[in-house]
Amino acid sequence: MRQGFNRSTAVLGTSDNCIATHPSDMCVALAALDALIEVQSVRGVRRIPFTEFHQLPRDTPQLETQLAEDELITAVELPPLPVAANSRYRKVRDRASYAFALVSVAAALDVDHDTVKDVRIALGGVGVKPWRAYETERLLSGAPANDESFRRAADAELAQAVGRSGNHFKIELARRTVVATLRQLRDTGGAA
Ligand SMILES: Cc1cc2nc3c(=O)[nH]c(=O)nc-3n(C[C@H](O)[C@H](O)[C@H](O)COP(=O)(O)OP(=O)(O)OC[C@H]3O[C@@H](n4cnc5c(N)ncnc54)[C@H](O)[C@@H]3O)c2cc1C
Repeated sequence: MRQGFNRSTAVLGTSDNCIATHPSDMCVALAALDALIEVQSVRGVRRIPFTEFHQLPRDTPQLETQLAEDELITAVELPPLPVAANSRYRKVRDRASYAFALVSVAAALDVDHDTVKDVRIALGGVGVKPWRAYETERLLSGAPANDESFRRAADAELAQAVGRSGNHFKIELARRTVVATLRQLRDTGGAA
């Protein structure tokens, strides 16, 4: 199969119909921070968890979100989230400015006595949508806050990644970026 130039394409959530990477940075942070999207139409108001707002392409790649044709976004809500007090966005890219993420990680971490008390993680640059790393969060919850746990939890999420000729490097890069971001949050408590 011819694959073309696919260095920047996605490795998570792809289908035969779409391997495009979701482009936004802000949406990755919103996915990590449990944001809610408020939408309004003649039928009234509904709130959509941000992680469900974007859809996987499957066989309808033309539908990026679950917005109905007559719905308008009227608000984005960020709930008060104690773990977000220690949070960080790390973006890895080819150039220092004006470049999409090869990999990005939005993360928040609360560590108590060397154990992960609470964590949120979303990945950018690798998914067809802002990618909330639920499997990483599940494995980290209650685990020792060390590199081994961080790596194992990242691996569990990335086990479903599908690399192609030009973008396979993103899988290892994502693993390393998750570990580095969590280590930094653990060591600095979020201080710059
Ligand atoms: C060269 C380049 C580099 C970039 N690099 C980055 C980067 O590194 N990081 C980054 O985050 N972004 C980057 N961007 C921006 C990013 O790619 C997208 O432009 C951004 O995510 C917006 O998506 P979009 O262009 O599809 O929006 P649009 O094509 O403008 O689509 C928005 C859609 O939303 C609809 N809409 C607008 N308001 C509402 C509402 N209230 N309710 C419902 N629907 C509404 C509109 O009708 C439209 O259909 C870059 C863009 C370019 C061109």
